[in-house]
Parts: sequence; structure tokens; C-alpha cells
Amino acid sequence: MNVIDPRTAIVLISAMSALMALVLWALKRSYPPSIQGLGQWAQALLIIVVGGILAASRGQLPEILTTAVPNFLLCWGVYGLYAGTQRFYGVRPATWRWLAVTVAVTLGTLWFALGDPSYTARLRLVTALLAVMFAVHAWFIVRQGMGSFSRWLTVGVIVYIAVIQLVRLATTFFLPMGDTILSGTPQHVLFIASFSVSVLLFSVGAVLMAGDRLRAELELLATRDSLTNTLTRRYMDEACAVELERSHRTGQPLAMLMLDLDHFKTINDTHGHQAGDRVLVEFATKVQRCLRSKDLLGRFGGEEFALLLPNTPLDAALQVAERIRAACVPQGNEVGCTVSIGVTLSLPQNDSMDKLLARADAALYEAKNTGRNRVVAG
Ligand code: GH3
Ligand code: MG
Ligand code: MG
Repeated sequence: MNVIDPRTAIVLISAMSALMALVLWALKRSYPPSIQGLGQWAQALLIIVVGGILAASRGQLPEILTTAVPNFLLCWGVYGLYAGTQRFYGVRPATWRWLAVTVAVTLGTLWFALGDPSYTARLRLVTALLAVMFAVHAWFIVRQGMGSFSRWLTVGVIVYIAVIQLVRLATTFFLPMGDTILSGTPQHVLFIASFSVSVLLFSVGAVLMAGDRLRAELELLATRDSLTNTLTRRYMDEACAVELERSHRTGQPLAMLMLDLDHFKTINDTHGHQAGDRVLVEFATKVQRCLRSKDLLGRFGGEEFALLLPNTPLDAALQVAERIRAACVPQGNEVGCTVSIGVTLSLPQNDSMDKLLARADAALYEAKNTGRNRVVAG
């Protein structure tokens, strides 16, 4: 007696996969194009859906359409899920190689359908290929690094369904197989049930991974300047408030530096805007090399930067500023410009960010007025 009718179960999984494909499709449309893989996952699910519907139509359609073709589609869909994951991580899938393997296995199943009919042999071929595909897929994600719930969920599901394939493969050696997947033997029912749960959870995992990616991209967008990869003004405002509070609480000095490139406009005028952009990038790189990991460098305007040095007294801050100034003096016929720097320190009590900025700005102004390419404390 069957607990579930396999045909009904296959139709149900197919409907669910189609819905999950729709969800992934909708996400692909609303997410930025930088998040790849969603379309491929949706496509793969649809391929599995078509395969499932054909397999469930056994007896109503020509035999090849309900055996070899669904076998191919199932394997190709499962590969497509892996290819989607590769795209998601920016890796180009080796589609032709896997197509060749899938076609070879399909031809094998065709032989065991028409030449030397054996359901068991067909089943072994397909489950072995699926197990390999799932294992390779899981291993690929693990190699990208775990560290988030969505990845654990996705890898867990793929490992589970890979193990189910192995169990199914093993049972072909000591349990009766029936003669189709619709025969309702326990291992088929287990496979169908596991596959449906896996499709659902894999899709959830994929949606969550895409969500994590989107969040990371937005965070980067909000915190990093796209040209120089330094922090944004908005991030610096928040960081400055936090550091000021810490400085007041612990009594540790907080240094703020304002940096402005000298006669930067002439770089643009003489060498063009793109050369100017390169000078800005190069400048940011040189400054970063002079800093500790907890120091915060942000771009405030075109060629104006602010630098926060937590727990740094004035003499140390002046040393850092001088090191930056010296590092920025153009060498030989290098296209570049010198930098003027205003340095100030947070006062023990009631220093606001505005006051800190105003003092650093005033010091910078003085550096500009007294000849540029210099460091002034204020
Ligand atoms: P000073 O020594 O007094 O600071 O002179 P300056 O020429 O550096 O200052 P000014 O503020 O007159 O000019 C800044 C120039 O920076 C003007 C603007 O066209 C240019 N600029 C602003 N943002 C960018 C950018 O993202 N890329 C490039 N290439 N140029 C920029
Ligand atoms: Mg300038
Ligand atoms: Mg300026």
C-alpha cells in the first residue's frame, strides 16, 4: 500500500518548483544586475518541472518522452542549479563539459531502456550522476567560505539530497526496485519526498544568499566612496560621533586631520579629468599605507579628505601627518600634487564634531595660506 501516490507527489513537487522559479525570477527582476545566478536557478527549476511532469505522464505519452527525456531534464536541471550558484559567485560554469557527461548518461539510460532493458541499471546511472553533481555543488559553496546562515542552509540541503542519492544507489543492490519510479517502493517515495523538501529549502537558501549579497552591496555603497575606496562622508559623520564619545568616556585623545590636495585643479586642466581621478586613487593608497587598521580615512569632497586617528596624542598625529605629506610629494616626472594638512585634537570635554571639523579646517586654511605642502596644528 502506498503512503503517497508517487504520480501525485511528482505533480505537487513540480508545481512547487514552478512557484519557487517564479519567486527567483521576480527577485532577478528587482535586484541589481550585479547579483547574478537568480535567472539560472529559476531556469533550472523550470527544467526540473518539465522533467517531473513528463515522468509523471508515463503511459500517456510515447515511452521515450517519459523515460530518457525526463532523466536528461532532471540531470540537466540539477546541473543548472550548480551553474546558477557558480554564476552567483562570478565563476563561469563549464557548461559543455557537464552537458557531455549528462548526454552520455542519458544515452546510457536509453541503452538500458531499448537495447538491454533494465530499470535498475538506469536508476544507478542517474542517481550516480546526481550524487556527483550535488557533491560538486556543495563543495563549490564550501570553498567560497561559509559564515552565514544562508550558506549553511544551502550546503546542508545539497549534502542531504546527495546522501539520499547514495542511499538510493545502495538500495538498488539489495532491495526490489519495481520497474518505474511510479512503482511506489519505499526508496522511491523517500526520494520523491526528499527531493521536494530539498527543492523548497534550496530555493529558500538561494533567496537568502541573494539577500545577503544585496545587503553587503548596499552597505558598501553607503560606506565606501566608489572612486577611492575610502569611507563616505556619511560614514565618517557617524564614526566621528562614536569616536568622540569614546574619547570623552575613556579620556583617550582623538586626532582629526583634514587633507586637501594642492592646486589639484591644474592636474585636471593639464592632464585631463581621468588623470585627476588616478591621482586621487593614488593619493588614497599612499595615505592608507601610512595608517593603522583602526584609523579612518574618508573622502569629504572632490579632493578633500578627513582622517580620524583614535587614541592618538598630538605629537603622534603630527608625525603621521608629516609622513603622509612626505609620501605625497611627486617624484621625478610623476603626475601628482602635494598635500596640505590641518591637524587638531579632541578636547577633554564637550567637543562636538562641528567644533573639531572647524578647528581642523582652520588649520588646513592656514597651511594653504602659508605656502601649501605643509602640516599645521590648530
Ligand atoms: P588648492 O590648493 O587651493 O586646494 O587648489 P585646488 O585646485 O586643489 O582647489 P579647488 O577647490 O579650486 O579645485 C578642486 C578641483 O577638484 C576642482 C574640481 O574640478 C576637481 N575635482 C573635484 N572632484 C573631482 C573628481 O572626482 N575627479 C577629478 N578628476 N577632479 C575632481
Ligand atoms: Mg585642493
Ligand atoms: Mg578643496
